[in-house]
Amino acid sequence: MTRTVYVNGDYVPEAEAKVSVFDRGFLFADGVYEVTSVLDGKLIDFEGHAKRLERSLAELGMTAPVTTEELLEIHRELMRQNDLHEGMIYLQITRGADADRDFVFPDPDVVPSTLVLFTQAKAIADNPVARKGIRVISIDDIRWGRRDIKTVQLLYPSMGKMMAKAAGKDDAWLTEDGFVTEGTSNNAYIVKDGRIITRHLGNEILHGITRRAVLQFAREAQMQVEERAFTLEEAKDADEAFITSASTFVMPVVEIDDAAVGEGAPGPVATRLRDIYLSESRKSAI
Ligand code: PMP
Repeated sequence: MTRTVYVNGDYVPEAEAKVSVFDRGFLFADGVYEVTSVLDGKLIDFEGHAKRLERSLAELGMTAPVTTEELLEIHRELMRQNDLHEGMIYLQITRGADADRDFVFPDPDVVPSTLVLFTQAKAIADNPVARKGIRVISIDDIRWGRRDIKTVQLLYPSMGKMMAKAAGKDDAWLTEDGFVTEGTSNNAYIVKDGRIITRHLGNEILHGITRRAVLQFAREAQMQVEERAFTLEEAKDADEAFITSASTFVMPVVEIDDAAVGEGAPGPVATRLRDIYLSESRKSAI
């Protein structure tokens, strides 16, 4: 079955899905995105992703080409046309294709933004990696200062994954002034003496939609949560570590820079949070 992709109002076979070479997403990484996971043919936390998208657009002075209701309809139509039961839906909005390459933003009334969505089928709930956990390296966080905006400029995170791969590991945690900010494409957590510690919100990290839900579930389950910066040293000395993102949910981290975290195996807190997150999100999926 050939994949059907959404481009600016049309549902087309992927080979026919095209945007201009003058698109500012292509020339300037002038665009934002969202990834929403799909379980049992339903969207997980669509509202959270739609709200963050609105915020990313507003921060960059971009306008949404469609309403949130229309976006939901496009997500559903894509799931239907691609018979997607489990995986992700990728959405990207760029500032559109101007007549030429120009650093100055085009007038949004003249140049419409570009909207692209596509599906990615993948088994994300029953992920064997979650049973053994992932191993990470630490690297300098040299990204720009507005990591709270979910832009498509992902070159450094991509390089970070390559550095991890070259070291024979799974991913990288980014550090700034000795403190962990987040993972290349996920939020980072440690557990010490039963307390869940993750960096506070700010411009330094992406405000993860999975992060928000997981912290809420943790608090509801009477777990202690501390939103504050933690050092790489604290992380190496932690009882447990894990990451969260829409496509990995809660994923245990069992090694940081060659040092085993805790027992070097997925810990009880991460395992429990993964179970809670999966069952709660399934219940509220739409
Ligand atoms: N931080 C970064 C840098 C990310 O790229 C992502 C995933 N896109 C996250 C955190 C996790 O966000 P979410 O839970 O909304 O997927």
